Amino acid sequence: MKPFDYRSPADAEAAVRSVTANPAAVFLGGGTNLVDHLKLGVAAPELVVHVADLLPATIEDLDGGVLRIGAGVRNSELAADRRVRERFPVLSQALLSGASGQLRNMATTGGNALQRTRCVYFQDVTVPCNKRQPGSGCSAVGGWTRHHAVLGASEHCIAVHPSDMAVAMTALDAQVRVLGPGGERTLPFVDLHRLPADTPERDTVLEHGDLIIAIDLPARPVARRSAYRKVRDRASYAFALVSVAAAVDVRDGVITDARVAFGGVAHVPWRAHRAEQMLRGAPATEETYRAAADAELADARPADGLDGGNAFKIPLLRRTLAATLRQLVREDAR
Ligand SMILES: Cc1cc2nc3c(=O)[nH]c(=O)nc-3n(C[C@H](O)[C@H](O)[C@H](O)COP(=O)(O)OP(=O)(O)OC[C@H]3O[C@@H](n4cnc5c(N)ncnc54)[C@H](O)[C@@H]3O)c2cc1C
Ligand code: SF4
Repeated sequence: MKPFDYRSPADAEAAVRSVTANPAAVFLGGGTNLVDHLKLGVAAPELVVHVADLLPATIEDLDGGVLRIGAGVRNSELAADRRVRERFPVLSQALLSGASGQLRNMATTGGNALQRTRCVYFQDVTVPCNKRQPGSGCSAVGGWTRHHAVLGASEHCIAVHPSDMAVAMTALDAQVRVLGPGGERTLPFVDLHRLPADTPERDTVLEHGDLIIAIDLPARPVARRSAYRKVRDRASYAFALVSVAAAVDVRDGVITDARVAFGGVAHVPWRAHRAEQMLRGAPATEETYRAAADAELADARPADGLDGGNAFKIPLLRRTLAATLRQLVREDAR
């Protein structure tokens, strides 16, 4: 590990100033992702600025039914919060499907949203990777692609975003509050991450020195009937091959509202706008679920690979979407 300076400032503004002033500085949340990268040599900052203890660690009810989650709230606390479990079960389930109890006790809301890809080539500093070293090439193209993207990838990077929490936040229309060198601003969570295009080294639209300070969940009555379904190689302690976060409202057998996002299939938590369009106003039937999946996956492009590639993700995601919707509609009928 390369030596670095460590700072623990008094407040968020001072943390932003410290990182902004040094292009080789990074924020440290719970450290469960960044510390691994320091050890592997994937990250080699000059300065590490600890923020987990100075970010809000509270979950607050705001006017209009908004739930504000401080960026310092730990994943286990967020998953266990009564309001989250009742009003946004998809978020609680997504968090509990990720990592292990010990990791969730450390991981922060801000750090979870900004964790980096688990692409094995990204984590191996001996091989080319455009995300780690722009212009060096992508070892995953033609390599091991079981865990890689089928939607929105580019020839420069086919990695997927790993966070389960972020998929639920995307389906829930969450808003991200950011403190940057120019002050505070808010952006839709769905716009936080970016597709790789020809600059895969940039995971998000944030600029250097931007600190996530909170995430707001707007009131969404439909979210009370929501679920997260994750398919992975092992029952626990594994990242998603595919995942679905969904919320639906059904009246007299017709879907009146639907929110859907996918994980494990793109460089971003993927909001399934086309699927939602097919679902809204349609009868809650298997044909509708199939049509929704077909619409969303029309542009899906699997990657070939030494391990047989990842074309299996397309039928797997179809079935996972249908199973999640079936479950929610069944619960709604009770
Ligand atoms: C063995 C293992 C299994 C795992 N399995 C899963 C899984 O199945 N699903 C899943 O979703 N996750 C999984 N994880 C990942 C885990 O959820 C993340 O490591 C964790 O959520 C990151 O949060 P953190 O606070 O520790 O972030 P850190 O490691 O502290 O930081 C992560 C990144 O975010 C930046 N950062 C941190 N906080 C802020 C902020 N407030 N504003 C701006 N930048 C910030 C840091 O600079 C760094 O780049 C696993 C991790 C491990 C080690
Ligand atoms: S898929 Fe992306 S992260 Fe993985 S090796 Fe290629 S460029 Fe790097």
